[in-house]
Amino acid sequence: MKRLLAAFAFVLLGASPPISAAPQQADVIIRQVTIVDVEGARPVPGQAVVLRGDDIVAVGADAAIARQWRAKRRVAGEGKFLIPGLWDMHVHFGGGPELIEENRALLPLYVANGITTIRDASGDLPDQVLGWRSEIADGRLFGPRLLTSGAKIEGIKPLWKGTIEVGSTADVDAALARLKDRDKVDFVKITDSTLKPELFLYALTRAKALGLRTSGHIPMALTVQQAVDAGISSIEHLDYAYNAGARDEAVIAADFAAGRIDRAEANRRLDAGFDRATAMAAYRRFAAQGVSVTPTLNGSRIIAYLDRDDHKKDAGLAYIGPKLRKTYDWRVERAAKADAAAIAARHEQIEAVATILPMLAEAGVPIIAGTDAGFLNSFNYPGFGLHDEIGLFVEKGLTPAQALVSATRAGPAWFGWLDRYGAIKPGMAADLVLLTRNPLDDIAATRAIDSVILRGAVHDRAALDAMLADTKAKVAAWDAAVVR
Ligand SMILES: [Zn+2]
Repeated sequence: MKRLLAAFAFVLLGASPPISAAPQQADVIIRQVTIVDVEGARPVPGQAVVLRGDDIVAVGADAAIARQWRAKRRVAGEGKFLIPGLWDMHVHFGGGPELIEENRALLPLYVANGITTIRDASGDLPDQVLGWRSEIADGRLFGPRLLTSGAKIEGIKPLWKGTIEVGSTADVDAALARLKDRDKVDFVKITDSTLKPELFLYALTRAKALGLRTSGHIPMALTVQQAVDAGISSIEHLDYAYNAGARDEAVIAADFAAGRIDRAEANRRLDAGFDRATAMAAYRRFAAQGVSVTPTLNGSRIIAYLDRDDHKKDAGLAYIGPKLRKTYDWRVERAAKADAAAIAARHEQIEAVATILPMLAEAGVPIIAGTDAGFLNSFNYPGFGLHDEIGLFVEKGLTPAQALVSATRAGPAWFGWLDRYGAIKPGMAADLVLLTRNPLDDIAATRAIDSVILRGAVHDRAALDAMLADTKAKVAAWDAAVVR
């Protein structure tokens, strides 16, 4: 009361009350740090950031903030760079029920690599992943915020396991009702190994009407624009966006649909028909219709160069359990069967596809960073892979700032959550990564992690190293059990 009266007196006298008289209490203060304004692509030096619970509550010039706040924990930010938490918007968990433990052991790898949110794009353990989502949210399981599609929608007897098989519009309606009401999924994933093209379009339209975001693989019998018009919200894998650049895409799709050409011939003609003006016109339509692209470029690059790159000594292997490593064999064996012409074609294809990355950016299509890390996808290491992905974005023509946006803001933007994630301002989530170097100068700086703050909890370098060591020890124990 006395304090209130004093403040009142100051107001009456026309002077401002001394702020230092009543510092507010917080949990964490990061002092003298350079904030990376990702949206503005500029560093803001000399800042302090205050966290309470899982919120950012104050940000500003260091001296002023330090006068107003007292915190239980102080993090020294001198010479360091603070970015919003990273999002990996395309990961997988799966490989069957015997691989649940090995999949769970991947979760800390994301956090140790600065990734505070992951979007699971479906695997074959949908119920398990839905369970992990809740366990992480209420603190029973340690891991990044987990968003998931639950089971993906597919045709009857598909290549992929862990799906909801649909053969009619009634099946699609039932699948969407289950995903929305029972599973409360964060988005819907639709793949096309056996799904009828008309049901693919129907599922997109119905999902949109229900307010669900969609992502998926576009059937060869359709043009990309048909999927866009039906309401697809994100195109996964750069190849599909590349196909939209073929001058005669509609004819090729129709020929494939009618069974006049096979998939290989369709791909050959799509490639031969690629034209910059056609592509740019298509990408401007994507942008106007609010469609994002998740390139998963690093995953495609790894597969394309399996003939050339020796992964046996990859440091990442030490973090992947033996049963998960076994799932890598599928692609490795398939690649080994390819002849010289097929290998050369694969190399050419990945390089051609990668050229559209700066075109998408120029057209204003939001580019979302996602790795495709998880089972089956050989040598694409959970957590570590996101840094490879955004490094590749820069190598292929994006600026470091654009690459940073793809990994911090594009995910939240896709979900409509930019009011909570993707910037360092009061009211935002306390998900942050403290780097020892400036990522606007060199995107590789996202690997130089001093600390990760996840839901307000500070994990310093020693804690991050302990997370990595813990998963490594688990893998070593599993390996030893296999040998015996
Ligand atoms: Zn995938």
